[in-house]
Amino acid sequence: MNWQIPRFDYLAQYQTIRRECLAAIEEVLESGRLILGPRAAELERNSCEFLGAEGDGVAVGNGTDALAVALRALGIGPGDEVLTVSNTAVATVAAIRMVGARPVFCEIDPQTLMMDPADAEKRITSRTRAIVPVHLFGNAADMRAINRVAAERGLFVVEDCAQAMGTLLDGQSVGTWGDIGCFSFYPTKNLGAFGDGGMCFTRNPGLADAMRSLRNYGWDESRCAIREGVNSRLDELQAALLGVKLKYLPLWLGRRRAVGAEYLKHLPSRFVPRATPGVLHSYHLFVVLVDRRQQLIERLKAEGIDSGVHYPVPVHEMPAYHFLGNGRGSLPVTESTAGRVLSLPCYPELPLDAIPRICRIVKNAVRMPGVEGGAA
Ligand SMILES: *Cc1c(COP(=O)(O)O)cnc(C)c1O
Repeated sequence: MNWQIPRFDYLAQYQTIRRECLAAIEEVLESGRLILGPRAAELERNSCEFLGAEGDGVAVGNGTDALAVALRALGIGPGDEVLTVSNTAVATVAAIRMVGARPVFCEIDPQTLMMDPADAEKRITSRTRAIVPVHLFGNAADMRAINRVAAERGLFVVEDCAQAMGTLLDGQSVGTWGDIGCFSFYPTKNLGAFGDGGMCFTRNPGLADAMRSLRNYGWDESRCAIREGVNSRLDELQAALLGVKLKYLPLWLGRRRAVGAEYLKHLPSRFVPRATPGVLHSYHLFVVLVDRRQQLIERLKAEGIDSGVHYPVPVHEMPAYHFLGNGRGSLPVTESTAGRVLSLPCYPELPLDAIPRICRIVKNAVRMPGVEGGAA
């Protein structure tokens, strides 16, 4: 049998909601309102409800802008240092640079692959203003410890939740632990638009007002710029389509969790990074840790199974960020992890009966001479 299993497939999902999407598009096109109108406002309200938190959502153009607008609202800029991780989408670091601040990379926990709070604490200087933990793969950083460090040292916390919409820590949504939570609606994310989109969440009404103004040229109600803003607005088409999809998100998250559970059933635990204690994982990605990764990628490919690497090069080793001065060897756990992570197909529409087969290939490949499993 020749299976073709992609790593991501929005078309399969689209077919199940096509009518509702087309109706939503038509409604927007006939409404006379195209940008930051009632659908964006509705999405902001419904997203807060989904997060189960009292507060404000501020819809923006994408997840990178969500982080930059959040940092700017907190007054972070040139001369300030922001603690984050290097095993992340480059977007996290790009956003810190967009406001002119200096990213300072922390090590990750070798078990969970999330920010190591103790290491973060050691890197605090008199210039440090904020911590940006990244809830990578649908897991969550240890926000209990990070918030403790932030409170003791007077730092802001901006959560990068781009990969973790729907993830809970101790029953509480990620994005509601820090001062601001930033989400991405890039098509591959847990809640994906048919284009770009993003959102900030905060419980602080003053920060919400600042972010509403910042995303729209820094305007106040009378269209006078009262701060230096940007253009990062969510359009009504994307907002309406996201509104359709948000209703299905609990169902789709349930399927992601079923996919995750099926993988865990068929893979030895030494191949799989641990969920942070207290986390209800949302399985944005299902990641395994293997040595000689390239051979496994090719074996999977030969069987029609697509896989991905998130991320092959840590941000501190990318040429654009060499100027920060973190050479190879400066973050050993991060660097060794980058050589071993592999993302297996993981999305709500993935048939569960494909998973034992994928896992057999993984297990057979790592049994071959020269291809060893991950950390024992
Ligand atoms: C996708 C992603 C972003 C950026 O979101 P965009 O909407 O693509 O700008 C930021 N951080 C992480 C961890 C991401 O995965």
